[in-house]
Amino acid sequence: MPVLEIDRAALQSNWRTLAARQPCARTGAAVKADGYGLGAAPVATALHEAGCRDFFVAWASEGVAVRKALSQAGADPGATQIFVLQGLEPATVPLHLRHDLVPVLSTPDDVAVWQDGLSTAGARAPAALQVETGMNRLGLDDGETHKAAALAVSGDLPLCLVMSHLASADEATAQSAEQLQRFLALSALFPGVPRSLSNSAGTFLGSDYGFDLTRPGIGLYGGRAGLAGALQPVARLTAAILQLRTAQAGEAVGYGAATRLDRDTRIATVGIGYADGLPRAASGAGIALRPLFPAADALLAGQRVPVIGRISMDMTLLDVSALPQDAVRPGDRVEFFGPGVAIDEVAAAAGTIAYELLTGMGKRVERRWT
Ligand SMILES: *Cc1c(COP(=O)(O)O)cnc(C)c1O
Repeated sequence: MPVLEIDRAALQSNWRTLAARQPCARTGAAVKADGYGLGAAPVATALHEAGCRDFFVAWASEGVAVRKALSQAGADPGATQIFVLQGLEPATVPLHLRHDLVPVLSTPDDVAVWQDGLSTAGARAPAALQVETGMNRLGLDDGETHKAAALAVSGDLPLCLVMSHLASADEATAQSAEQLQRFLALSALFPGVPRSLSNSAGTFLGSDYGFDLTRPGIGLYGGRAGLAGALQPVARLTAAILQLRTAQAGEAVGYGAATRLDRDTRIATVGIGYADGLPRAASGAGIALRPLFPAADALLAGQRVPVIGRISMDMTLLDVSALPQDAVRPGDRVEFFGPGVAIDEVAAAAGTIAYELLTGMGKRVERRWT
């Protein structure tokens, strides 16, 4: 079976590294999409242990799961904030109140739903507000922000955070600086309310971008996202060789006979496929892979081999002709990404990004914490 090994110490170390980038801000963690596919509960508890107190999820249901995990780990609900980035509806307001989740209000509708929900419940709880600064994705526009500011200043809308999101923090463009200026102007309408702007890459843009709270995600999980060198790999995906054979020149390989061999080829059939989250688009891309062999086998350690033929649902074929004969055996495990092969490199070969690879890991891939 495919296994996703997760290095808990590396995850915690990455959080500390990101925290050290912005020593004047609190450092939170984006744990949406089940902790970027690694498991929101173990990720949140590991990060809480490292000192993280602010967590970001996409949906209220994800927030409930994180709250339960933190409570089981003995976290004080009053000392941990879980922000729900999207999807507030009347039906989920009680869920937020019951589990101490902070909704991020991003539309005038969100503001109305939250205020109505609070008055129905006879409750008072602070929300977060998201303003739009140039991404055109989710957030109040300038006029809406001014209206919300009037509510906040009059005390009708208690807020614990004003935030916005950077569109291109991992690229060298002027957009981040423009967003920063807009954010400074809009957040100034909310005197005294803590502010948050940066994702992982944003924390590397300088102290101007730290504000009161950062929200790193991919960097925690070892995705490079422009943070080259500073962070450790956290996840390693491996699968075992099921069978080895030599096919002759002229024969076809895999579904649709998509690959025709121009030489005799040693093929390893590995038990991992697109159902496990290995993108079919990577078929025959010659993704650089690094078979992991017993440490004693210095000859093979670190050798990379290409994928051949089409990746199928449960299996992938590797051309291992370049490896010494009989050095590879059924049962040997192959690393698809991890310390040996950067996840960003594999993602690029598959025409995608590390975020999508991680969050797309199949359910049946065993998550093994080390
Ligand atoms: C996902 C997300 C983050 C984390 O971004 P990374 O690039 O993974 O660091 C931060 N803020 C918001 C609003 C997000 O949606």
